[in-house]
Amino acid sequence: MGTFGAAVIGLGVMGASALRALAARGVSAVGIEQFTPGHARGSSHGESRIFRLAYFEHPAYVPLALAARDAWRRLERETGTSLFTATGILEAGPPGSAIVAGSQRAAAAHGLAQETLDAAEAARRFPAFRLPAGWQAVFQPDAGFLRAEAAVEAMLLAAGRNGAAILSGRRVSAIEPGRDGVRIVIDEAEALAAERVVVCAGPWLGRLVPGLAGALTVTRQTVGWFAPANPALVAPDAMPVFILDASDDTVYGFPDFCGSGVKAASHRPGATVRDPDDAATGDAEAEVSALRDWLAPYLPAAAGAVRRSSRCLYTRTADEHFAIGLHPQDRRIVLASACSGHGFKFASILGEVLAELALDGATRHDIALFALGRCWNEAKT
Ligand SMILES: Cc1cc2nc3c(=O)[nH]c(=O)nc-3n(C[C@H](O)[C@H](O)[C@H](O)COP(=O)(O)OP(=O)(O)OC[C@H]3O[C@@H](n4cnc5c(N)ncnc54)[C@H](O)[C@@H]3O)c2cc1C
Repeated sequence: MGTFGAAVIGLGVMGASALRALAARGVSAVGIEQFTPGHARGSSHGESRIFRLAYFEHPAYVPLALAARDAWRRLERETGTSLFTATGILEAGPPGSAIVAGSQRAAAAHGLAQETLDAAEAARRFPAFRLPAGWQAVFQPDAGFLRAEAAVEAMLLAAGRNGAAILSGRRVSAIEPGRDGVRIVIDEAEALAAERVVVCAGPWLGRLVPGLAGALTVTRQTVGWFAPANPALVAPDAMPVFILDASDDTVYGFPDFCGSGVKAASHRPGATVRDPDDAATGDAEAEVSALRDWLAPYLPAAAGAVRRSSRCLYTRTADEHFAIGLHPQDRRIVLASACSGHGFKFASILGEVLAELALDGATRHDIALFALGRCWNEAKT
């Protein structure tokens, strides 16, 4: 099947972005995807993902988020697509909310614009919301949402324009490092060779790379769309993306930007998944009705009928930071697990990071927080 400068395994958003970045650097690159790019069985499908800068998880993400924003703009210009819509983000919770405090800490550390609102002020500014009295909220105006599937499509378009090949519907069954390159076995039958390999297998990563298996937990997450009681209040010019950090759940959501209704989901871990192959399917009606009932007091403008539901997989590390780096036993192989439910927004820049790691052995960006060593199990390789 040929010899390539670089092969990317998995064409969700991370692999698509890495393929684009490798091809842009003039490398003969191939991307291999076990299903069809854009499929709904992994983590990158659906119409939207939140983009935010004031990162409650850790202030160290902020420079990467700023670089990702520039990279999304470059992708928009390069492909003539509109991928990002700024709505701002409202993050809210009871006194002591770790999300509100973390967002404030990140904004202060990096000089980001941010307003603090009480429940009454939040309702006045964004009438879709009714936050409980006593809650605190912060509003950061530079956040918004990305068009997820359009983003993956744009990345693959750009990769193809720079000469990248795509093998679709082909499953990598083994990665075999050799003296003259890395052999990639496909469908247990054929093989190709690559000088460098980037593995972005999402929920399947532990299957392909046993050294990471024990550190990655795959969970099934459910997303719902709800008919708006008052469409004007939930339009993107009236309602920001949001995260509600209540004591019994953490729920995020989006304004209705394409007539599907208000989209919302819990960020808490769903059921653990042993085999990712069939996990993103199944009936989610009961879960989504419960979510609508949970949301109704906080967001009465979106408390209408359930319009639809969808499933998606999170691949979590124990500390919920990404795991990215060179394979501890072979520097020709780069491994990336950039999910834990919050990786999409960084994909535009992480593709460049992965290409730098593959081609230069190091990256200009600070990814110390994502060190692979904290997830690596030597005994399992
Ligand atoms: C419900 C949900 C909501 C989210 N919301 C947000 C959000 O608002 N903001 C945000 O920033 N992030 C969010 N995320 C996280 C974000 O979507 C993920 O970080 C991102 O999609 C991960 O992409 P990936 O390419 O690593 O994985 P995937 O999209 O799963 O891609 C991995 C690919 O590898 C392929 N593959 C696996 N094994 C093989 C093999 N052996 N051979 C060939 N191909 C293989 C798979 O088929 C798959 O296409 C959310 C995730 C979910 C599930």
